[in-house]
Amino acid sequence: MSNNKTDIMSLELNAIADEMIALNEKKFRGIQIFEWLHQKDCFTWKGMNNLPKALIAKLEEYTYLTQIQLVTKQTSDHDGTTKFLFKLHDGQMIETVLMRYDYGNSVCISTQAGCRMGCTFCASGLNGLERNLTTGEMLRQVYAVESAIGKRITHVVLMGTGEPLDNYEAVVGFIKIITHEKGKNLSQRHITLSTCGLVDGIHRLAGEKLQINLAISLHAGDDELRKQTMPIAKKYSIDDLLTACEAYFTSTGRRITFEYALIAGHNDHPSQARALADLLRFRKFKCHVNLIPINNVVEKSFAKSNQKDVIRFRDILLDKKVETTIRRSLGTDIDAACGQLRLNTMKE
Ligand code: SAH
Repeated sequence: MSNNKTDIMSLELNAIADEMIALNEKKFRGIQIFEWLHQKDCFTWKGMNNLPKALIAKLEEYTYLTQIQLVTKQTSDHDGTTKFLFKLHDGQMIETVLMRYDYGNSVCISTQAGCRMGCTFCASGLNGLERNLTTGEMLRQVYAVESAIGKRITHVVLMGTGEPLDNYEAVVGFIKIITHEKGKNLSQRHITLSTCGLVDGIHRLAGEKLQINLAISLHAGDDELRKQTMPIAKKYSIDDLLTACEAYFTSTGRRITFEYALIAGHNDHPSQARALADLLRFRKFKCHVNLIPINNVVEKSFAKSNQKDVIRFRDILLDKKVETTIRRSLGTDIDAACGQLRLNTMKE
């Protein structure tokens, strides 16, 4: 934001402590500030009532705190899923979705404003990438939803607008802070990162030794088919992608999820289900396939597979002993498909 000012919300605890030293302050002030921001939901310097006035004056001069503003929200009559639209300091709009489950409250956050991956079925990338979000902007999405509903968020999915591995450092910073014991202390196992398959990023993530879940947007069982909807498939083959998944599994022991959005007449044929099963069944990692009847996007001309074809597709995978579920669609009445609320509001 403001030139040269330090973005404190995006800093890990050590980095805030270093900032205190740079400001000629005691290190422990860093812990106090971290707790105010990430545990006590205080987003103004003046509200941090255990900090000396002189420090607050310095913080106001040299640093800033990320702000986000709620523009609108829509709640599904069917299942209570709520979609939030937030505005950032520079006018960028981002979407965040709250899903309520028996096991807790899950938030789906955006990691970029827009996206440059260009998947043909997705509304998020229609206008390309505007910019990366900061760690602080990702955190504030979770904190804002938490305060809007007055309940703890227990799960986070990095599955909103943007490609998380295209904004690597900020995303890893987000994961470290949201799981920090002096912050919200979320379990790493309750976080899922979904990627269209940036192979280098997956290998790098494997090296972080985090316990987060990895979901791969596969959507096709062979390279030629995948290239038709996902430009990233021209850069990385499915073979390289699965090798990266194996590395991730070896280093974390976490089961890999493969997302497969079914488009009628495109990737839902029984032969394609068999190809997918053969691709995944004898791998050196545990995995799970999530079948998603694709959400229609008005700007795009494709249709969702019909229920009968979805079930047939699933049964072929199950027959070949590939663990598979059909994802339940939530919030179908509220611009639920990826990027749609943002897109529709921007059009207005
Ligand atoms: N860029 C990341 C995360 C954001 S997209 C990724 O590609 O995984 C989150 C998921 O929604 C991805 O699996 C994506 O392929 C899927 N998706 C995008 N458009 C969709 C649509 N119209 N219907 C169903 N799923 C869609």
